[in-house]
Amino acid sequence: MEKIVILTGAGLSAESGLGTFRDAGGLWQQHRIEDVATPEGFARDPGLVHCFYNARRKQAAAARPNAAHKALARLQRDWPGEVVIVTQNVDALHEAGGAARVIHMHGELAGALCADCGHRWPAPEEMAPGHPCPACAAPEARPDVVWFGEIP
Ligand SMILES: [Zn+2]
Repeated sequence: MEKIVILTGAGLSAESGLGTFRDAGGLWQQHRIEDVATPEGFARDPGLVHCFYNARRKQAAAARPNAAHKALARLQRDWPGEVVIVTQNVDALHEAGGAARVIHMHGELAGALCADCGHRWPAPEEMAPGHPCPACAAPEARPDVVWFGEIP
């Protein structure tokens, strides 16, 4: 049976109201990428970075899957072979649309990552600098998203 691999990106979730970083007037437009989406930016001003991702997390949680998310979930369900969805999106709209197997190559807004030990856990709604890691207690919690300059 043939396998299908589908790669999706920001355009898919734009229809659900989540702006791509090139959109005018969006969240991204109010910040420089270097300030909010790089390890260096996080080291400089973790408060700003957490604030930016808290806003994105809140926006993503309120968004609803669109027809494309649902169609891909239907394909995954009905195709007799395997359908793997690989997404660059950090929202959970594929899952909300019914997809079962999704690989988030750029991480997930719903996740927190310890910059010290690499432990991952569900992110609280609001993250803040100094938030301790539940595994090693280091105050190094960051959003579990892949930033510019990092390897997916
Ligand atoms: Zn840790």
